[in-house]
Amino acid sequence: MSEKVLELKGLHAVYGKKIHALKGVSLEVRQGEIVALIGNNGAGKTTMLKTVAGQLKPDQGQVLFEGQSIGGLPSHEIMRRGMSLVPEGRHIFPRLTVFENLEMGAYSRTKQDLEQEYAHVFELFPVLGKRRTQFGGTLSGGEQQMLAMGRALMAAPKVLMLDEPSMGLAPVVVDKIFEIIQRINKEGVTIFLVEQNAKRALQTAARAYVMETGAIVAEGPTSVLLDDPAVKKAYLGLH
Ligand code: ATP
Repeated sequence: MSEKVLELKGLHAVYGKKIHALKGVSLEVRQGEIVALIGNNGAGKTTMLKTVAGQLKPDQGQVLFEGQSIGGLPSHEIMRRGMSLVPEGRHIFPRLTVFENLEMGAYSRTKQDLEQEYAHVFELFPVLGKRRTQFGGTLSGGEQQMLAMGRALMAAPKVLMLDEPSMGLAPVVVDKIFEIIQRINKEGVTIFLVEQNAKRALQTAARAYVMETGAIVAEGPTSVLLDDPAVKKAYLGLH
């Protein structure tokens, strides 16, 4: 089996004194995999990604990237080591052009690397190339999602973490986004995909974890989870 790139061990996160959003989450992502984390609204998925990406400090537990503890490091350092996050709600810069938005994802790279990275992003998302001088805020929802993904790819990550990439998008656009996620994975990038759209996530990933109120309640190959009666009932709307 390939190496673990990301491992969470007993991770706890608390907002203020009362809201215990993560209650001992353990999971692992191996080199080259697409791993999904599914769960309903408020389950703690975004909190987990923010903790891994250095935007929140864990209260307890460990985050290991390539075997090294990164829990509590600043987000720019985590990005420099090779993990990029495409945040929920995209958070692109509406008053910067497409090109400038991409530039924001690439501050740690050399100029020569950048040429290659722009070409790569424009090849994956030709529409971004066509709209490179347009302000981010004028793009459609799907194009903004592509821009957020492009921006994360500018750092040439080893692991790309995506928080709800399908949110608010029409089914045909979602198809396109998931097709590109698979393509990015085939190019060698490990994918950690967080989704409320359980069906799409389970169809795209090879393995998945299910989170409920801050804890992992099921895990396994997606082929097994897609057939699991509890998962079908709670997440796939099937009885
Ligand atoms: P969603 O899909 O709705 O974003 P989620 O699974 O990503 O849900 P989180 O956003 O991680 O869930 O929220 C987990 C819990 O932590 C929820 O109870 C939420 O209300 C709470 N929470 C999230 N952010 C904060 C915050 N900044 N301050 C206090 N509580 C928070």
